[in-house]
Amino acid sequence: MHLLIDADSLEKLGKVYEGPGGYLCCGDNQYVHRLVMEDVLGRPLLPGEVVHHKDENKLNARRDNLMVFASQAEHMKHHARERCEHAGYDFNTHKWCSGHKQYELRSEFSFASTGDGLYTSCRAWTREYKRQKGYKSEWTEERRQQQRSRRAAKKEQECTTL
Ligand SMILES: [Zn+2]
Ligand SMILES: [Zn+2]
Repeated sequence: MHLLIDADSLEKLGKVYEGPGGYLCCGDNQYVHRLVMEDVLGRPLLPGEVVHHKDENKLNARRDNLMVFASQAEHMKHHARERCEHAGYDFNTHKWCSGHKQYELRSEFSFASTGDGLYTSCRAWTREYKRQKGYKSEWTEERRQQQRSRRAAKKEQECTTL
């Protein structure tokens, strides 16, 4: 087991070991990465704050391997950006399509009110999925309604002019 920790942290925390979830722990299953970050910040972590391991190694609680994010959403965004850039795409213009399992242009996605503001799958995939599932999109239904009322209005007009 390879435990990575700064010497002065180890001095403060005492015995460290691999604890629950594969994280470096000390004392009564306390997460070392969180304690080290609190030491760096000089204050307790705020509710919702997440400490990220830059090298993804849960046993590396060295100061230079840790980063704090204000929320889990910010943390996940950071991971998404790293994955995207690792795959050779620009995170500002591309996004992972969970339907097609590939990176696609952000303009291919519809807007969503949750998450990063876009659907997790592109429009083409969502359309195909709905078609296969036999969903009638609200848009089509609305259009049909409009056509019906337009036709009815026209008919009425024809009747009155006759
Ligand atoms: Zn992380
Ligand atoms: Zn797609």
